[in-house]
Amino acid sequence: MSTYFPEPYKIKMVEPIQLIPKEERKRKIEQAGYNPFLLKSDDVYIDLLTDSGTGAMSDKQWAGLMMGDESYAGSRNFYHLEQTVQELIGYQYVIPTHQGRGAEQVLFPQLIHNQGQAVLGNMHFDTTKAHIELNQAKAINLVIDEAYDTSNDHPFKGNFDINKLNSYIKKHGKENIAFILITITCNSAGGQPVSMQNIKEVSQIGKSNHIPVFFDAARFAENAYFIKKREVGYENKSIRDIVLEMFSYGDGLTMSAKKDGLVNIGGILAIRNDNELFEQCRSFIVPMEGFPTYGGLAGRDMEALAIGLQEVVEFDYLEHRIRQVQLLGDLLKNDGIPIQEPIGGHAVFIDAQKFLPHISKTQFPAHALAVALYLESGIRGVEIGSLLFGRDIKTGEDGLSPLELLRLTIPRRVYTDNHIRYIADGIKAVYKKRNEVQGVSFTYEPKILRHFTSRFTLSNNSVQKNKETITQTESMK
Ligand SMILES: *Cc1c(COP(=O)(O)O)cnc(C)c1O
Repeated sequence: MSTYFPEPYKIKMVEPIQLIPKEERKRKIEQAGYNPFLLKSDDVYIDLLTDSGTGAMSDKQWAGLMMGDESYAGSRNFYHLEQTVQELIGYQYVIPTHQGRGAEQVLFPQLIHNQGQAVLGNMHFDTTKAHIELNQAKAINLVIDEAYDTSNDHPFKGNFDINKLNSYIKKHGKENIAFILITITCNSAGGQPVSMQNIKEVSQIGKSNHIPVFFDAARFAENAYFIKKREVGYENKSIRDIVLEMFSYGDGLTMSAKKDGLVNIGGILAIRNDNELFEQCRSFIVPMEGFPTYGGLAGRDMEALAIGLQEVVEFDYLEHRIRQVQLLGDLLKNDGIPIQEPIGGHAVFIDAQKFLPHISKTQFPAHALAVALYLESGIRGVEIGSLLFGRDIKTGEDGLSPLELLRLTIPRRVYTDNHIRYIADGIKAVYKKRNEVQGVSFTYEPKILRHFTSRFTLSNNSVQKNKETITQTESMK
């Protein structure tokens, strides 16, 4: 039997990419204020910034675009999407939205009744947290402690800590909790899955306390794949059956279709059977997203999404998808590069504090690594660490994130395993000369969302400090 797992598709249209010369990369990243977000994508060779909306559609999806019914109301593509979601997810009410946050901005105000209520999650995604806070509620993360330990091999690191969940409810009272939100897979913890057992327990706790349970379902199919592979009793179940069972434990979902919807734009709000809640959302969606049968999407987008939802639950697709991410992780691990384990569903996370121990947290080691990797091989990754985390609002203190990670996010069906090997080589090359990598310091720092627009200079401190360490070790010899 072959030891290779080839892509389960062949390519019939190509988009050329090119690696600009090193001297030019130096100039481009300097012009971008040493912030990869500010690079033009044409200056990037392999783009691992995000898996959101960056995937490749199939020939069937492209054909679906041509079947778009652009009627303002009652588009046939809406009914196709509605039926697909009803069959796949098992929820009765379906509202399309322009993307995941569109669903959040419509649903959350219906569920949050009092200021200061809490929304309990395993680990909230950043726009999700923002929408919770815009409704004057608190976003509380109750993920298991193992999620914060990058070397712990727990198979379901996205799980809720059941004790923390119970004691939070006991301490604060169920009337002070708006809803529970299960994020599958847990993006902010590194694309780590949540087990069926955990989903079931969280759902029971919700039920017995009359707290609604919703899913943030951006990567629902990847979560189902992990359950099949890792959870006893599910090895012989189909992905579709696992998906149906997962969602049977919730009251509804918000979904960014830019991930497991296999489309470049789109989102879904779905509600199991609460007619009153559905009607509230359906009224509210009109001023926010659009008429309820298009919700901010073109008819053709809804058609592509309906087809994408069918393709994403195919086992062969998921098997290659997850194995490809795993391949990158394995190649790095074999060379001793510190990564978060186990490897998640959509990205490999490099532990930059271990990779670059000479760079302090206030000089953003993971961001420094992103810059070094772009310079080395034209690859764009993204910092998930203290730069993203921001400062303490009250004290202004910096360097607060418990983890300093460089995320290498793999778009769906876009790169081949050969690209993956090239990416691994680039990181290994940086690892060989890691002592030369410099930290960064701000030349411009906006008050909010500084990740996207900050500008930096390479700081000499780290080099200095590094030189000192080297001299020290040398003098010790
Ligand atoms: C991407 C994402 C969102 C937000 O969706 P958008 O489509 O980007 O608006 C919410 N939650 C999770 C877990 C996500 O990954």
